[in-house]
Amino acid sequence: MKCDPTLYRATTPSLAVKPRLIRHLFLPPLIIALMIGLGYVGFWTSEHFGIRSLGENGQRQLELHARAVESEISKYTYLPSLLELESSVSQLLDDPSAEHRQTVNEYLDGLNRRSRSRAIYVMDTTGRVVATSNWRDVDSYLGEDLSFRAYFQNAVRGQPGRFYGIGSTSGEPGYYLAHGLEEHGKIIGVAVVKVRLEAMEERWQRARLEAFVSDENGIIILSSDPARRLKSVVPLSDAIKEKLARSLQYYWFPLNELQPLARETLAEGVEKLTFPANSEVKADEEDISYLAQTRPLSDTQWNFTLLTPLQDLRREAINQGILVAVAFALVAFLLIAWNERRKVIATRLAAREALQEANNQLERRITERTADLRASNDRLKSQIRERRQAEETLRRAQDELVQAGKLAAIGQMSTSIAHELNQPLAAMRTLSGNTIRFLERGQLDVASTNLKTINDLIDRMGRITASLRAFARRGDDKGRASLGKAVDAALQVLGARLENTALQLHRQFDDVQVQIDQTRLEQILLNLIGNALDAMQAQPLPELWLEGEEFDGKYRLRVRDNGHGIDAEARKHLFEPFFTTKPGEQGLGLGLTLSASLAAATGGHLGVEHPASGGTTFVLSLPLVSPTPAEPI
Ligand code: ADP
Repeated sequence: MKCDPTLYRATTPSLAVKPRLIRHLFLPPLIIALMIGLGYVGFWTSEHFGIRSLGENGQRQLELHARAVESEISKYTYLPSLLELESSVSQLLDDPSAEHRQTVNEYLDGLNRRSRSRAIYVMDTTGRVVATSNWRDVDSYLGEDLSFRAYFQNAVRGQPGRFYGIGSTSGEPGYYLAHGLEEHGKIIGVAVVKVRLEAMEERWQRARLEAFVSDENGIIILSSDPARRLKSVVPLSDAIKEKLARSLQYYWFPLNELQPLARETLAEGVEKLTFPANSEVKADEEDISYLAQTRPLSDTQWNFTLLTPLQDLRREAINQGILVAVAFALVAFLLIAWNERRKVIATRLAAREALQEANNQLERRITERTADLRASNDRLKSQIRERRQAEETLRRAQDELVQAGKLAAIGQMSTSIAHELNQPLAAMRTLSGNTIRFLERGQLDVASTNLKTINDLIDRMGRITASLRAFARRGDDKGRASLGKAVDAALQVLGARLENTALQLHRQFDDVQVQIDQTRLEQILLNLIGNALDAMQAQPLPELWLEGEEFDGKYRLRVRDNGHGIDAEARKHLFEPFFTTKPGEQGLGLGLTLSASLAAATGGHLGVEHPASGGTTFVLSLPLVSPTPAEPI
């Protein structure tokens, strides 16, 4: 897969940093703002719908309890009119004698007990109480003038007197129902029933219902909460207050307004009221909100108000708001996490693709290089093959040359060999002739000495031929040779020539073991010492130094002479085959070439130095078998 390199190319720092910075700076406040906003929307929605649901439920409750209040009130409506039927009452009003009064008092007392009202009493048209159910009590109404009471004023005019007020005698609140008693179409007096409605308050309290009833003046006359009693639900001007105080309807109780902290009209007859917390009960309690639903009570000018607390709803709405905010935060967090993860995966994918591409490229290159290498390897192999073939050819040629060199050396040395062998042969002939004669004479001692000498001569001849055989034999490139023995062998081969010179030989080397065939080493040394002897032919005091030293795992033997040395021109061609400065049949020009190649074949080297003091030094380096040098020879 080809990957677009622009995908993972590094963006310019300034451009890359800015959006990230903006994101980091503005994202958290934005999320928090959205959290708060959505939380508020959640809260508002929950509260709104909660209030609606509470309102619907409250409406049913309102209806139920309002009906209960209406029935409680209407229960006594008929009672004062009943007194119209009672003849003793009209007699009393006609003739207020003590006897009549007593009869009516007792009648009213019995009626009051049965009807469970608070008091029943009868007034004349002037407003004076002429008979009462509580005639026995200390605070009896008997003889009291209640003409100032509004219910009396209405009833005496033939209108129904309905009145809630606080008794001027007992100071006890009650509901007064008054009825004008008629006789022959004329009102002769007024019958009043006082009813206590507190039972309803107790019922509300037991049912944990918060409700109140406000009268025509807007004054709360019944309340589940005693603190709200005799408070006004409408604003009261000073004039009205004055008027109400003078009417003594509420006795001398101070009339204050019920002042909520907040009032919000939600619909017709539906309000949201917030009251301050009752700080005496709980200092840290929060303000209390209510849903207030009001409905007028039939047959009266009163209103029934049901209060539904909104705390639970509010708490639930707050919880809903928090839930919405937290849910949003969670969703936002998940989205951010998902986005980050997506980015990480995208980066990883891009990196993987880049890696894959790089890998593919690498593999392509490796394949190309491998092909190149294989081709060059094949070339090298064929070159190696060619070189090996050439080397093989060369080695064969070298072997041939070595053999040729040996043969040449044998040819060259045949004279001296013949001379070397002829001498002992001549001596042996003479000695053997003499020995025969000494034996004939019986001189056995002399004959024995001669035979011993002959034996020595035969040994010597055997050694010479053995050396020549070894020289002529093809040897191995690798082997083990003793330097001391090789020098001895070479000197032995050259023995005849050495005898004719006053050579001074300096042996300063160790009898070390070197890695070369013994015969080949002897052959090299024979060449080097032979050449030195040739160079020193004209030297009256010929000297030959054989100096050895160990160097870097090899043994270095210097063969130095004080001969005529080598001129500059000859130095260039020394190791070339068939280069010789020797006249006629004396030199073949193969000695140095073969010696150098024999040394090189074992990992050694043959070099030349030209000392300033004169003469020539050939340096033969051969690998040591054992690095520890033997005893000096
Ligand atoms: P050859 O002995 O048959 O000439 P070599 O290869 O052994 O062949 O020697 C080549 C030439 O190197 C000799 O002809 C001689 O001129 C020169 N040479 C070799 N050794 C010495 C030496 N020790 N001193 C002077 N010249 C030498």
